Amino acid sequence: MNQLVSTTGFSLAAYGRLLDALRYRGYAIVDYEEAEPAKPQLILRHDVDVCVQNALTMAEYEAAQAIRSTYFVLLRSPLYNLLSPENLKALQTIAGLGHRVGLHFDATLYRAEAYQDAIARECEALENLSGTTVDIISFHRPAQALLGYPDRLAGRFHAYMPRFFSDMGYCSDSRGGWYRGAPLDHPAVDESKALQLVTHPIWWIAEEHETAIDKLDRLVASRDTQYREALAANITPYQEVLNAR
Ligand SMILES: [Zn+2]
Repeated sequence: MNQLVSTTGFSLAAYGRLLDALRYRGYAIVDYEEAEPAKPQLILRHDVDVCVQNALTMAEYEAAQAIRSTYFVLLRSPLYNLLSPENLKALQTIAGLGHRVGLHFDATLYRAEAYQDAIARECEALENLSGTTVDIISFHRPAQALLGYPDRLAGRFHAYMPRFFSDMGYCSDSRGGWYRGAPLDHPAVDESKALQLVTHPIWWIAEEHETAIDKLDRLVASRDTQYREALAANITPYQEVLNAR
């Protein structure tokens, strides 16, 4: 069966249980700069690939439990507009809750020679939007060549530097499941070593019975409604047609 169809069991409560289980094993939640690969430390990274509002829900859930994490947002995604009033407010609220804002950088949009300048520009824009310092980067769907890239980029740490990616454990919910093994089964957790836990809020703002496809279908339906409402608010004849339906 298609893996996207088969995975369930993700929700905010499930996320909370996962963090509880890691903390029960002695893990402390830390920031990128503080993390020491040989210690039972946990970096919480959220890549906001599709929905800023889902990220806000997750950020509020974490803040209610005194958890601070890092939210990496895209500036050039076709899936959301960070400057829309509700998304910009959500971004600033996430920062205001004490979370860190990082740049989620889509390197496929640039030539490799242009990465440094592009990252500097995007970080500066994100700093202006979020009102916080942006000094950490994660790559969106990185090419193999960027995994383990050892140097800073535009003077900033990135989440695939060896210290965060290969010196410590790395576990991601990409595609809506733990396809490379669940965090609690990770060899680093077995050895009480540090772990960078990568989650995408879209998969967790859900009911546990929902598959990844269910979640995406629900998102599309809600975006469809918002799109119609935005069109109606701007184009009176469309409003009249919608009202008549
Ligand atoms: Zn991504």
